[in-house]
Formats: sequence, C-alpha cells, structure tokens
Amino acid sequence: MSKSQFWLKACNRCGGDLREVVGIEGPYVMCVQCGHELGFAEERALRGLAPEPGAVAAGAKRRRVAA
Ligand SMILES: [Zn+2]
Repeated sequence: MSKSQFWLKACNRCGGDLREVVGIEGPYVMCVQCGHELGFAEERALRGLAPEPGAVAAGAKRRRVAA
C-alpha cells in the first residue's frame, strides 16, 4: 500500500529525481530536489500514457504553485 513510484533524474526542470506523492486529492508526482510538481499531461507522459484529450486544454491541473 505504501509503495510509491520513483523516477530517477526525470525532472524536466532540474534533472532531479521525481517521486510519487499521495495527497488529499490523489497521487501526484513532484521533484525531490526542486519541488517541481508535474502537470497532468507531464505526469501521464511520465507514466507512459497518452495525454488525455482536454487535459492539456484544462491547463495541467495545478494544485499548488511552486514559488
Ligand atoms: Zn527538479
């Protein structure tokens, strides 16, 4: 149950490691090094899924804005 996924050196911002974090609204992926949070489309691409039509238009569902 507590197994979270890891993507080494997959951050497109700093080249750091991405980690799946389970938040209140569900799992999301963020960078361990810089705190960059992946948008919906980026996350799907990372998981090897095709971007959902409309997901890009919806503007990458941001839960938080990293300063
Ligand atoms: Zn990063």
